[in-house]
Amino acid sequence: MPAVGYVYDPLYLEHGTPGHPESPARLQSIISHLERSGLLGRMVEVRPRDATPADLALVHSHELIARVRETAEEGGAPTGVAWLDPDTYVVPGSYRAALRSAGGVLAATDAVLDGEIGSAFCLVRPPGHHATPIRAMGFCLFNNVAVAAAHALERRGLERVAIVDFDVHHGNGTQDAFYSNPRVLYVSTHQYPFYPGGGYWAETGEGEGEGTTVNLPLPRGCGREEYLRAYREVCEPLVRRFRPQLLLVSAGFDAHLADPLAQMLLDTRGYYEIASLLKALADELCDGRIVYALEGGYDHTALAWSVRACIDTLLGNEFAEDLLSAGPSVPGPNIDTVLAAVKGAHGLNNG
Ligand SMILES: [Zn+2]
Repeated sequence: MPAVGYVYDPLYLEHGTPGHPESPARLQSIISHLERSGLLGRMVEVRPRDATPADLALVHSHELIARVRETAEEGGAPTGVAWLDPDTYVVPGSYRAALRSAGGVLAATDAVLDGEIGSAFCLVRPPGHHATPIRAMGFCLFNNVAVAAAHALERRGLERVAIVDFDVHHGNGTQDAFYSNPRVLYVSTHQYPFYPGGGYWAETGEGEGEGTTVNLPLPRGCGREEYLRAYREVCEPLVRRFRPQLLLVSAGFDAHLADPLAQMLLDTRGYYEIASLLKALADELCDGRIVYALEGGYDHTALAWSVRACIDTLLGNEFAEDLLSAGPSVPGPNIDTVLAAVKGAHGLNNG
């Protein structure tokens, strides 16, 4: 079996401010779980690099890059914390952490494309999928996954890259970056209506990119059964039709039933099953090339177990039972109508 890589760097812990849910403790919980369970020892460490301004400019405006750098360097008085929007802080270490976060996903993507490893999980922060080409928002400074996708296309010669985003929030930044780009398929499942507001099924791309943005807006209360229907009935056939050469995953774990920020009921086994489906797609379509990048997930125990569940699929391990994996037995919401709408919008009419 090809090696499974991981990216981590202590610099990722330098971005933080007390009381904020997007905290360094998130990564510490994951790392300590992976160490204790012995999984980290079965993976190959991929050293992150620092993304350069030229890397970031594949997606972001020079004004945004300069604003994040200058705000972090100047800091906010008296605590050193400055806010780019009501949710999104920077501290003096944030710019360096953000460069290495984006650079971590770039390094993992290069290692996979070079055949040094087969797949990877990037344990990076700050997260990225809300960062638009011109705006940092929603805890995100630079869009790590979008920068890696643009790098793979523009510098590594790939023709098609698919991004699957199972964070509970819509990845508005990633959608914006590629909305008219026919070479990137963006598929998002998310709670709707919910922060940041978009992600309706009728948002399908524009111009040459028409049809390559796929939004699955799901009502609150969806659990494993509803999520697996969305992935089997919509995500899987559309990714297969697109024939990507690389699969990137915006891996947020805030749809977990234990998560404090959202109202979905996905359990750890649900993440394992979604990740199994994505791995099978990568094996079928991309020579197994799949790179996960951490986005959200704010219950530290659920986060660690759910990341581990994804890594277990890459390593070929069985699902590891946790104490959080019993999904609720109450019936979930009916998603027939929204799935039918998404299928109609994307020409999947036989499901
Ligand atoms: Zn999220």
